[in-house]
Amino acid sequence: MSRIGLRRYPPWMSAAAVAAIVLLAGARLITLSAAEHAAELRRAAQDVMQHHVHLIEVQLQALLERARQESRAAASADMRGTAAASLPAIPARHAFWTADSGSLLGAGDADPSISRALVSEWLAAPPRERATAGFLGPVRYGSQWLVAAQLPVESSARSPASGRARAFAYEALEDLLVRADFGRLPSEGYDFELLAPRDAAARPLLRSRPAALEAPVSGEVRPAGAGRSAGAYLRLAIRPRSGWYPMGSIAAEVTLLALVTWALAFGVYDLAYSVRHARRALTTARERLRAVNARLSTEIEQHDALQRNLEHARYHDAATGLPNRRYFMGQLDRALRELHARRRQCLGIILIEIERFTLINDTLGHTAGDDLLLQAAQRFAGILEGTEYSLARWGADQCVVLLSDVESAAVVRATAAALHAARQELFSLRRHRVSIATRIGFTCIARGLRRPEEALREADVALSVAKRQPAPLAVEYTTELGDAAVSLVNLEADLHLALERGEFGLLFQPIFELRAAAVAGVEALLRWRHPVEGMLSPERFLSIAEETGTIIPVTRWVIQQACRLIDDWKASLPRDAGFFVSVNLSAAALRDPGLGQHVRQTLAATHVAPRYLKFELAERGLIENVSGTRAVLAELRSMGIELMLDDFGTGYSSLSHLQMLPFDYVKIDRPFATRNERADSAVTAAVLQMSSSLGLRSVAELVETEAAARSLAELGCDFAQGYYFSAPLEAAEALQLLRRTPAPATNVGATEAPVAAPAAVRSADETLILEVPPTMMLPEPP
Ligand code: C2E
Ligand code: CA
Ligand code: CA
Repeated sequence: MSRIGLRRYPPWMSAAAVAAIVLLAGARLITLSAAEHAAELRRAAQDVMQHHVHLIEVQLQALLERARQESRAAASADMRGTAAASLPAIPARHAFWTADSGSLLGAGDADPSISRALVSEWLAAPPRERATAGFLGPVRYGSQWLVAAQLPVESSARSPASGRARAFAYEALEDLLVRADFGRLPSEGYDFELLAPRDAAARPLLRSRPAALEAPVSGEVRPAGAGRSAGAYLRLAIRPRSGWYPMGSIAAEVTLLALVTWALAFGVYDLAYSVRHARRALTTARERLRAVNARLSTEIEQHDALQRNLEHARYHDAATGLPNRRYFMGQLDRALRELHARRRQCLGIILIEIERFTLINDTLGHTAGDDLLLQAAQRFAGILEGTEYSLARWGADQCVVLLSDVESAAVVRATAAALHAARQELFSLRRHRVSIATRIGFTCIARGLRRPEEALREADVALSVAKRQPAPLAVEYTTELGDAAVSLVNLEADLHLALERGEFGLLFQPIFELRAAAVAGVEALLRWRHPVEGMLSPERFLSIAEETGTIIPVTRWVIQQACRLIDDWKASLPRDAGFFVSVNLSAAALRDPGLGQHVRQTLAATHVAPRYLKFELAERGLIENVSGTRAVLAELRSMGIELMLDDFGTGYSSLSHLQMLPFDYVKIDRPFATRNERADSAVTAAVLQMSSSLGLRSVAELVETEAAARSLAELGCDFAQGYYFSAPLEAAEALQLLRRTPAPATNVGATEAPVAAPAAVRSADETLILEVPPTMMLPEPP
């Protein structure tokens, strides 16, 4: 039963094949055993037949002997001189004498008709046979067969009768057979047939059954002393009554064979069926396994792809595909180690910030900034080509470059200058041509072991200095810058006492209404008169105050001061003079749960109407906690205090996003920041338009030139402030300004931006590289 056979044929065919083979083999075996059995029977029958032939022969022999006695008796009678024709002696029973001619000489009790019948039989035989001694018949007489023996009477030579007389002895065949114990043959289980072979037709003399025997065992009865060449006298054929073949046992064997065949066929069928079934189940299981395997490998592939994506996401910025901070820090860490191991000469870190990033997002769509950053990064990469560098996105609007192996600081400086110059070419963004301004802080690290954070902080300090400059430029980190930053740490302790010691003060920067060309209000700006550091601007201490929580009492103090001042100013100004004082609120100050209460109480205590007070909130920090902020702002707004969104354009959010907060004004940070006035006006116009459509009044901040002021007026900006109009002033000066209503813009403060040009070197492409302490870069107006 091969696999193929099983697969190809149904189980019943295997069973049929097995049945056929078993049947054939069984039949052959049964045939052989039957033949063997038949041969055995035949041998036994042969023996039985021989035995009976012998018994008959003995009886025939006896008959001949009787005939011989009769012959002798006849001879002795003859010797006594009796003529053959008239033999006086009487033959014994069933015997008679005849003359050669056939005439009866002595018959005794022999039936004359029997005698005649026998004699005529004898006479019918051929002469040669007639002359010799032998047997006659069997001769039919009535209903019986007679057997007879005859021989010539042996007489003396003298006797005339000698040779002329014959002695006959006869007997009924049945009697002879009885004596020969023939009756035993049927009782031994044989059918028989006794034939007379000398007849041409081989007449049957005696039969145990009416029909002739089929395939009998036969033997010839040849009694000795017959002296004849005529052949056998009788033929005996026998055959077992049950036949040669044992039908009963054959039937039993056939039945057994059938049973065995059936059992085997059934077994094979069952086996084939089970194997087939098992094979089918196996195939199904194998297929299922294959499917599971396939699914598993797909899942593994997906998992791998996901892993790769995750790995990529870990080290890349989702929006631009640029490497991210994590990637950069890894690179920097390695570069610093190699530098320490003196495998590198010097390395440079350059932090680049793109200005007005949010404006671009707001005007051109919220992913435009990312596109811009990507384009800028590509442009930077083009400039860096040929050097060993890493470039990554640092902040929303920042890129950072690592120059892993440079010969000297001069190379880093030159590279920073080249990157700074890259901004001059316009960028194509959503079918617009956009110019950008970049501020760069960089550092060059030549030796010493520094942690990546430390190294980056140097570039960051330099960038924060660059950001404080009126014009976009690149600033290199120096130890002095670092020291100034470090000294901030010491300020923390002093800050706690500053309020008690009365070291805080306020300056007021006028805000002009452009259409009326008059001062509309002032912005209160905090100053710390530090006993050692001198006058400190908020940028130096504000972050510490916010981190330590000092901002809360300081803010309360500023609100109090502002309200008191408003009260004073109201008294000294005409009754109808409308003005306001706007106070800056840090996001950290909004965490003061009593802020609203404090404002309410202060307004009440100083008898100031809420319209005199406004609050400015920078977008940075607000978006982090919109829901919390909204509640505080709503409370202030509900008191009737107007709110200004400060520093718009420096953060990351969009106007529409901030629209969720209840602002009345938007302060646009440095609307003309670049030298490309046309591009700037397009962006500013868009922001102004959007503000007005959102129902916000606009205040332009940090306006430093007449051109900018004029453009703003033309573009429909509502308010403006900046050095062009006036630097922050002491309270008294601010009051004087308020008294002159309406005041022409040109009359106010300095006509030039009162920036004391810092001691700076100009690189070939006019990039300013500052080499002065930071305090010198933030001059207060006179
Ligand atoms: P700010 O609200 O944007 O204030 C304007 C800053 O720009 C002021 O710096 C002002 O002196 C300066 N400025 C005004 N006009 C010009 C100009 O034409 N050109 C340039 N380059 N600068 C100009 P200041 O006073 O150093 O204040 C810095 C920041 O500190 C403020 O930015 C404000 O966010 C924050 N601040 C000031 N006072 C307070 C305060 O009382 N509380 C809180 N929380 N923050 C304050
Ligand atoms: Ca402000
Ligand atoms: Ca501002």
